Amino acid sequence: MNITELTVHELQEKIKNKELTITEITKAYADRINEKEKDVQSFITTLTDEAIEKAEEIQAKIDKGEIIGDLAGIPIGIKDNICTKGVKTTCASKMLENFVSPYDATVMDKINNEDMINLGKLNMDEFAMGGSTEYSYFKKTKNPWNLNKVPGGSSGGSAAAVAANMVPWALGSDTGGSIRQPASFCGVVGLKPTYGLVSRYGLVAFASSLDQIGPITKDVTDSAMLLNIIAGHDERDTTSEDMPKKDYTKCLKNDVKGLKIGVPKEFFAEGINQEVKETLEKTIQEYKNMGAEVEEFSLDIAQYSLATYYIIACAEASSNLGRFDGIRYGYRTPEFKNLKELYKKSRTEGFGDEVKRRIILGTYVLSSGYYDAYYKKAQQVRTLVMNEFNKAFEKYDVILTPTSPTVAFDIGSKLDNPLEMYLSDICTVSVNIAGLPGISIPVGVDKQGMPIGMQLIGNRFQEEMILNAAYTIEQKLKFRENYKLQ
Ligand code: GLN
Repeated sequence: MNITELTVHELQEKIKNKELTITEITKAYADRINEKEKDVQSFITTLTDEAIEKAEEIQAKIDKGEIIGDLAGIPIGIKDNICTKGVKTTCASKMLENFVSPYDATVMDKINNEDMINLGKLNMDEFAMGGSTEYSYFKKTKNPWNLNKVPGGSSGGSAAAVAANMVPWALGSDTGGSIRQPASFCGVVGLKPTYGLVSRYGLVAFASSLDQIGPITKDVTDSAMLLNIIAGHDERDTTSEDMPKKDYTKCLKNDVKGLKIGVPKEFFAEGINQEVKETLEKTIQEYKNMGAEVEEFSLDIAQYSLATYYIIACAEASSNLGRFDGIRYGYRTPEFKNLKELYKKSRTEGFGDEVKRRIILGTYVLSSGYYDAYYKKAQQVRTLVMNEFNKAFEKYDVILTPTSPTVAFDIGSKLDNPLEMYLSDICTVSVNIAGLPGISIPVGVDKQGMPIGMQLIGNRFQEEMILNAAYTIEQKLKFRENYKLQ
């Protein structure tokens, strides 16, 4: 048995049947990280020694009957913009290179309460701004399916680590596609929950009205299981929704008979790679064969989503990143003559180019002369996007699109062209703008063997609908069995 190839629910089974111990599992992951990390480069901080120590403690408690939690001793990887007490949280930035958070994010509290084991902090684009993980200050993560390709971003370290079996599952964050697009590029499952379902407390803010934390997993069942852990109201995040807790594994029915699926034609138009399009069309046919009712419709407003996203995201980022001033947090320039120079040099030296580009753009769209023309207009368009989705969900249970117009691209190929990089989120940003849940699952590979992802979008807090639709097609296509990554 190859331990690191198993999903978490498979691991749980083996633990229950006493075929595997917690210590064996954690050691298998530590070995796998030792073997693979030099090629894939997905971690900023590895915690393998600490993890093995913790596994032994937990195993001892389990043996004594002191721990009974279902997920006790299950390892996990964490994107490096989620605060972990006592362990560096760098956001892949020079600005926070040595930052150690004095507290845990709410999602970390929940993970620690389950006695899960943190294997390390995963690479990302600096401050989660990017779509390839090439904007990390520390390293460029490679796509485990082909080391010359990007893993996507910004949660590229999380997706690559799951795909390469270095962690059984991971947490990422998604502001405009950063969970779903890398999941699609790496052939794994990525879920962005409804805005407000998962607490953002302790997630380093990029664009607060768009950010959500979510699971990156090997399959849909694991995605539902991890969502069970992290979802829920939190007083420390005023945007978190107070609603009864659900068990998301209960909705996985393997049945889509009568499910109404809307396919917005704009997402299959110009700019979509032919192989991506054909694979999605085949998947749509599978849904029809299984009894779903599929209909094409127009989501015309989506053409404005990308522009709207980059105005709102940059505006919020320019405000959120104001706190990195060389005084309160992170990097401080070694030499300065006065306060103004301290601010200026610390920020100039501490931030990378993409982050600066966004701060400049964000400051511009918020400035008094341009506020009405750009920021206010973008907020108005945001309302229109929400209205269009509301209308669509009167007719459909889920909306189906590609996750990204292309498969993973070559490392370096979009670095000189920010606009092209931005285009790889064209299918995902609308979901954040409207605050909806979206999941990406692998549905095939192209001729070069690179994974192709499909996105399913649900109405607000209708995670069950997209999880079941994703689960049902997963059972049919059996991607993990058919396309095994060595
Ligand atoms: N790639 C998008 C951006 O650069 C999305 C990032 C994200 O979701 N964190 O803004």
